[in-house]
Amino acid sequence: MEDKDLIQLALGIMPPWFVKEPNLDTSKKRMDIYLDFTKGSKFACPVCKELCSIHDTKERIWRHLDFFHYETYLHARVPRTNCSEHGVKLIDLPWTRQKTGFTLFFEALVVTL
Ligand SMILES: [Zn+2]
Repeated sequence: MEDKDLIQLALGIMPPWFVKEPNLDTSKKRMDIYLDFTKGSKFACPVCKELCSIHDTKERIWRHLDFFHYETYLHARVPRTNCSEHGVKLIDLPWTRQKTGFTLFFEALVVTL
């Protein structure tokens, strides 16, 4: 099993999403995990859940739980769907809520603390 497969499994990332590149910088004590989606994928409109083609994407970064003692961040280009009924909308992602810089796992940790 490759590193990125292991990380993908640990994060619970499901197709069409996949781990493109994990990058561990030991001098900065930082882990950056780059996610991407399979080319040609369609995504659900966040309002009506109809599968739509992608209008464009926006680069985003989320703070995730530490990987051992490394600060960990997820990176992805997030699609905006072009729904015939609801127009251009940022999709819902499985690892975060809309308009937050944290993953669901990180938010759960903060709530626990
Ligand atoms: Zn829609």
